[in-house]
Amino acid sequence: MEGLRVDRRDFLALPAVAALPAAALALPGAAPRIDFSAAPARGNFPDKWICGSPSAMDNRDPPIQVHWYDPHSAILRQNKAYSYEAPFAPLYFGNDRVLLLDEGFVSLRTDWDLRGIVDGCIADWAARNGRRAEDMELLVAFSHLHADHYAGVNQFADRPNTRYMGLTHEEMLGFWGMTAFPEQVVTLDLGGREILIWGLPGHVMSEFAFYDRWTQILYTGDMFYAGRCYISFWEPWFDSIKRLIDFCDRNPVSHVMGCHVEISRKGEDYPYGVTWQPDEAPVQMTVADLRHAFEVAKTITAPGIYFTGKVFLCNQTRGTTTIDRNPYIYD
Ligand SMILES: [Zn+2]
Repeated sequence: MEGLRVDRRDFLALPAVAALPAAALALPGAAPRIDFSAAPARGNFPDKWICGSPSAMDNRDPPIQVHWYDPHSAILRQNKAYSYEAPFAPLYFGNDRVLLLDEGFVSLRTDWDLRGIVDGCIADWAARNGRRAEDMELLVAFSHLHADHYAGVNQFADRPNTRYMGLTHEEMLGFWGMTAFPEQVVTLDLGGREILIWGLPGHVMSEFAFYDRWTQILYTGDMFYAGRCYISFWEPWFDSIKRLIDFCDRNPVSHVMGCHVEISRKGEDYPYGVTWQPDEAPVQMTVADLRHAFEVAKTITAPGIYFTGKVFLCNQTRGTTTIDRNPYIYD
């Protein structure tokens, strides 16, 4: 493989590398390469995630719930007792490397061992697939630079065979090799499994969409999720959702998935900061949900909170706004 290392972004799919037959990339005696061409993966989300408890102090659930969507894709979720944000974090496996998307809202490994959980997932996957865990490169990336999405990033600082997305916008663009944010779509090659990445500004100016060709999950971070989408910049956000719709028009999408759930199955808003969501909505949404939100967005001309039936579009409202009636329009 050394001969294929062309620069620090060699995880991006380059035509010269992509053109090599898979057999040319396999080391003698190595486990056969997994074929990710027969997409979509047959995967599933749990009927119900661990979703907190009436007393966070007495919570006995694991710090991180690990759900294997399919044998090559784990979805991690932070326990609400450790953070009310309870962000989700996909962990995608390819033949050569692993992508971790988001690192939760607790920094210290002694408090919350995200790295240990990720290492355990990589060890499980490697054992199941005849690989050595230490041969798998880990890419530590995140949707956007908010603390509930990267607080645990330093746990990986001294981890061998690990590459880090930077923290500034320029570092992030450099990591993905982007020169025309947000429209440019780059292809991350995990080793036979491609992730498409492009810009998704609106919640913040520096956010990214991640589409996995294997599961066909479109990961939309905090720009679009089952809860209160805090939209700081309306016009870039509107352009971002339009770009997502255009993408869905041209590509198969199995699920639209955001980073949080803040809403019940009945469409009730859970108060900001709550650590117990007994009847929370699924994290996965449909392309129809996204399309409906876009239709609602087309009618929005002023700051306020607009409910689509699945998502609260909090257009330029305070960051901690909670809705106590549904639907709720501010004026
Ligand atoms: Zn967030």
